[in-house]
Amino acid sequence: MTSQPGPHRARQPRPGRRIVIVGGGTAGWMTAAALSRFCDTDWSITLVESDAIGTVGVGEATIPMIRNFNAALGIDEAEFIAATNGTYKLGIEFVGWGAPDSRYLHAFGLVGRGLGLLPFQHYWLRARAEGLAGPIGDYVLNAVACRENRFAHVERQAGSPLPPLPFAYHFDAGLYAAYLRRYAEARGVVRVEGRIDRVETQGETGHVAAVRLENGQSVAGDLFVDCSGFRGLLIAETLRTGWTDWSHWLPCDRAIAVPCEPGEPWLPYTRATAREAGWQWRIPLQNRLGNGHVFCSTHIDEDAARDVLLASLDGAPTAEPRLLRFTTGMRRQAWNRNVVAIGLSSGFLEPLESTSIHLIQTGIDRLLDYLPVSGFGAADRENFNRRAAWEMERIRDFIILHYHANGREGQPFWDALRHMAIPDTLAEKLAMFRAGGKVVRDHDELFDVPGWVQVMLGQGIEPQAWHPLADQLSREQLGQFLDTVRHAYARDVARMPDHQDYVSRLAEQG
Ligand code: FAD
Repeated sequence: MTSQPGPHRARQPRPGRRIVIVGGGTAGWMTAAALSRFCDTDWSITLVESDAIGTVGVGEATIPMIRNFNAALGIDEAEFIAATNGTYKLGIEFVGWGAPDSRYLHAFGLVGRGLGLLPFQHYWLRARAEGLAGPIGDYVLNAVACRENRFAHVERQAGSPLPPLPFAYHFDAGLYAAYLRRYAEARGVVRVEGRIDRVETQGETGHVAAVRLENGQSVAGDLFVDCSGFRGLLIAETLRTGWTDWSHWLPCDRAIAVPCEPGEPWLPYTRATAREAGWQWRIPLQNRLGNGHVFCSTHIDEDAARDVLLASLDGAPTAEPRLLRFTTGMRRQAWNRNVVAIGLSSGFLEPLESTSIHLIQTGIDRLLDYLPVSGFGAADRENFNRRAAWEMERIRDFIILHYHANGREGQPFWDALRHMAIPDTLAEKLAMFRAGGKVVRDHDELFDVPGWVQVMLGQGIEPQAWHPLADQLSREQLGQFLDTVRHAYARDVARMPDHQDYVSRLAEQG
């Protein structure tokens, strides 16, 4: 996306430029906000949603790219934090995944810092073997800040050897959607309330022509964005676009979510705790803790899963638990005919690495990149779908890694996952890391080398060697290098304020 001022005049579409968004969850309103920002008044943008159906609304944890989305929309951070009960997020703590009593952080940002050719983990692996290194988290700025519960916007001088402090947010997804609704309506998006009970298609092309509401109103369009959630009202129910099922790798198929009273302090990270047949999330907002238990219904029934969740909350529940059912996988074509699926209608990976809202964002980016000018070119569509699938498959591999490389021996759910056949793309990454500490990834992959390194080490994958060039430092140079990094990060974090104080002050300004 490039930044341009959005129009504030009434929208009067030129032929072929009526966009209809079906659904007003996080996906629908993010799409509406972005289109209203970047499409001038030659385009009309209508969003249809049904209050009676409601939204999933439990997406609360994000990754740093969300800041690009907010910045592209020109959203003020203090106002956003105040409006969504937001807090900062520096990473995810995984509890009990490597072994039942283990914990590690997948923190955003660099592991260590650069020294010549090699990624830091090679120096650290050698230093650890020689008794010179502490835990890997001592060399990750965000992990040190998580441990100390501190946060600040870190400004660096140009050329500083120290990295920035990358961050994301925890927020109330329902409030975020409401905020974006105000934003989009102020820029001419028309909201239509009502339940769609019929979809009209054109005989010859099979394109969607209009959606018809229960009250008889018809909303016609040229391009339809399906943000209708898991059911995929247009992409699946109308166009019968197939689904690639990944539940043999990611067998969790239910989640129970419940908010509870806010914990003190507000931690600047999400926690994901492994349970007997799934895992539990803990997401700190200003006014509540978001909690949920993601589980596999062939290993634990819904009542037992609810009990596990309710027995391990850090505060009293503030609402009734909600059950959500899903199948992990991906729509075979995210763009079919004149329908583009964004959000849950396009696919679902469980929220272990907080990637769903990010996938909404990249879906919107692609939609803007490929916005059809005249007609719908097959080449555009194929390319769009290939990119969407490639992106999701790489994220899928990263999530499978957490399950596959588990150390929870003797628990049937976890034993089965440890022994399952994994995608070749992931098997190759694991083999290369095990053999020589290398992480090989394509540049467009979402998760970077530090992410893979932290998760692989955290899950107990031990490289047998490091890169031979790491041996070129003397033992003394190596020790000094690691000490410099560790002390620099500890000093940096000691100067940061407490996370909760920082957020409270910022929210008052918003
Ligand atoms: P929905 O929220 O389901 O919205 C669907 C919309 O379509 C609604 O407005 C509904 O009214 C409308 N609609 C449907 N049918 C009709 C009809 N017939 N007529 C009119 N309107 C209709 N993502 C993250 O990034 N981080 C997380 O921490 C995270 N946690 C999650 C935890 C769980 C258990 C689940 C299931 C998801 C999580 N997600 C998370 C994903 C995130 O919640 C979704 O990506 C996000 O909410 C987008 O949902 P959506 O807008 O696609 O669908």
